[in-house]
Amino acid sequence: MATLRFQALADVMKRAPKMVSLPSLKVSDYYGEMVFDKEAMAKYLSKEAYKAVISAMEKNQPIDRKVADSIASGMKAWAVERGATHYTHWFQPLTDGTAEKHDGFIDFGDNGNIIEAFSGKLLAQQEPDASSFPSGGIRQTFEARGYTAWDVSSPAFVVGTTLCVPTVFISYTGEALDYKTPLLKALAAVDKAAVGVCQYFDKNVTKVHANLGWEQEYFLIDTALYQARPDLVLTGRTLMGHSSSKDQQLDDHYFGSIPERASQFMIELEIEAHKLGIPVKTRHNEVAPNQFEVAPIFEEANLANDHNQLIMDVMKRVARHHNFEILFHEKPFAGINGSGKHNNWSLGTNTGVNLLAPGKNPKGNLQFLTFLTNVMAAVYKNQDLLRASILTTSNSHRLGANEAPPAIISIFLGSQISSMLQNLAEKITDQKMTPEEKTALKLGIGRIPEILLDNTDRNRTSPFAFTGNRFEFRAVGSSSNNAAALTALNAALAVQLNEFKADVDALIAKGVKKDEAIFQMIKKLYLESKAVHFDGDGYSQEWVEEAARRGLTNITSVPESLMKYLDPASKKSLVESGVMTEKELEARVEVELEKYTMKIQIEARVLGDLAINHIVPTAIRYQTSLISNVQGMRDLFPEGEYNELAGARLELIKEISGHISSIKSKVHDMIEARKECNVIEDAKDKAFAYEQKVRPFLEDIRSHIDKLELIVDDEMWPLPKYRELLFTR
Ligand code: ADP
Ligand code: MG
Repeated sequence: MATLRFQALADVMKRAPKMVSLPSLKVSDYYGEMVFDKEAMAKYLSKEAYKAVISAMEKNQPIDRKVADSIASGMKAWAVERGATHYTHWFQPLTDGTAEKHDGFIDFGDNGNIIEAFSGKLLAQQEPDASSFPSGGIRQTFEARGYTAWDVSSPAFVVGTTLCVPTVFISYTGEALDYKTPLLKALAAVDKAAVGVCQYFDKNVTKVHANLGWEQEYFLIDTALYQARPDLVLTGRTLMGHSSSKDQQLDDHYFGSIPERASQFMIELEIEAHKLGIPVKTRHNEVAPNQFEVAPIFEEANLANDHNQLIMDVMKRVARHHNFEILFHEKPFAGINGSGKHNNWSLGTNTGVNLLAPGKNPKGNLQFLTFLTNVMAAVYKNQDLLRASILTTSNSHRLGANEAPPAIISIFLGSQISSMLQNLAEKITDQKMTPEEKTALKLGIGRIPEILLDNTDRNRTSPFAFTGNRFEFRAVGSSSNNAAALTALNAALAVQLNEFKADVDALIAKGVKKDEAIFQMIKKLYLESKAVHFDGDGYSQEWVEEAARRGLTNITSVPESLMKYLDPASKKSLVESGVMTEKELEARVEVELEKYTMKIQIEARVLGDLAINHIVPTAIRYQTSLISNVQGMRDLFPEGEYNELAGARLELIKEISGHISSIKSKVHDMIEARKECNVIEDAKDKAFAYEQKVRPFLEDIRSHIDKLELIVDDEMWPLPKYRELLFTR
């Protein structure tokens, strides 16, 4: 009997929403109370220490040891008041999620008494025993140790009883072993390159920062049902399950009110997030049943990404208070909408200008068009790099599936911007412009703000959409660390902007006026990269064909896509910009390839086990009951009547036999295929072998199991079904 499944269902039926008690204070009163932000620093640090942190944050100035001691001591006093007993360096290794190793503040004082201690040295640098984090061979080859170092640009915070210090994680020889280090370098690269270009327009621009506003999608599944699905527990997705008779056709979840249990979860989540200084603002249902979204107000990209990593942990923790598990997997249910993490990205200057928003006058608009076309060019030249940065094992189920951005990277601009760029390209000539021509051009671009006001076409099928004052990189997966995508994007743009500046300078050196040189380069970039611009339905088959005609790449294989990291174009963006060394890049690709192999390996094992231990025995039990039923009929009825009556049952018995035999032989073949792959040493060859020889079995075996689910007596079926996972509340 399928007891676990029915027990779980009974548990869910009994659940009442766990009501959250609302804080008596206003949000603004408790917002950031667990963050060692500027306000806390001003209160807990000496003037000298405060100044040192601020100039480290803003000007990258190093902090000397004595001052570090004093900062650590102030930080500790602040944290202890908030209940902290431990501290940790919080970092983002190349696995999924964040890592921490907690140490107590507890120490012996001079007289052997117990004190709370935290020194500048411990704040600034630590050596976690990191040999088990993936490093793509860097640490084995060079130096066994890795260390974490304080990222001053992201404030420390207290979670539970632990003071968390955001850090980078690098090998002893200086190579990045995490997601944060290359992101910080890419942000610095785009800062420098963008400032260079901004100087054409405004000499007061000395700093350009990237902004990120993420939109995190997720599923909530009842803990009891989740626990009854070993595939969800071990792989994050359902490896089997026939689609429910009703799923998302009616769109009733998207427009419906948030179910009470989920709503209580969200209320608690928001309170926790706000205490941690995460500016969560939006919550709503998503398209699929039990699918939701949370989004904050955008922030500087490094901080925003730390906040995204942090909130993913907070979400898991808060969900359990409400008997939910969070699914961050991009495609937990076949045939149902997947989850993404849209990255709203823009560039802002120290003078308060958004470089991806139309300006207030022709000069501002020329600057806007400069950045817009440089983004176009960067995306066009780096399609493969951008895809490599987002196409993970789990996201590969979402991309290219019919309700998600395809594995073709294109840009949506909207009709107004597109036709304006097209017009400009036609009007701009290489000849010296007459004053009238210049005025006409400037008048043309002077009208952008007006026309954008009625730019309401919001394309939801583009992987990279311009939305009026920012780009929305929609292809990023819900479970991933945004840093990979943001590193690729900002590094690519940095290299592109440097090239643009060199070209404009060369024209100026030849005697072309600055404005004209910029106009000419805008035209050149637009015409060169036009192929990447597509405003139509990105989910359609016509686009797949059209993109192929335009020479855009369309890669759905994860290993193939990952190898594109090593193409000359990608290396140009990542290595030339100083974001990664070639060695770091190669190590990173190796880590990602190994992750791919391991994930497919785990899925194959879990599916094999479930098929043989859960599904086949269940099918046999049901088949046995059919057989004894048929045998009974043969005893009961005269032969003629029996033949007439038993036909359908005999068919069913045969059908079940067919599926059982297929499952058994395919699981066997899958195990053999794994054995063949497992002896391969090279990470690349192994990932490709897993992709080609093992992965196809997953779908194949599943299809037999899903058919059995339709035939076998519901009472015997051991695993919660799609309708139960998606609709039981
Ligand atoms: P949507 O209609 O796509 O759901 P929202 O208004 O909810 O859009 O915004 C999505 C995210 O975009 C939010 O995090 C928001 O703060 C962010 N955002 C808005 N403007 C910008 C900008 N200029 N740069 C970066 N992110 C932005
Ligand atoms: Mg959006």
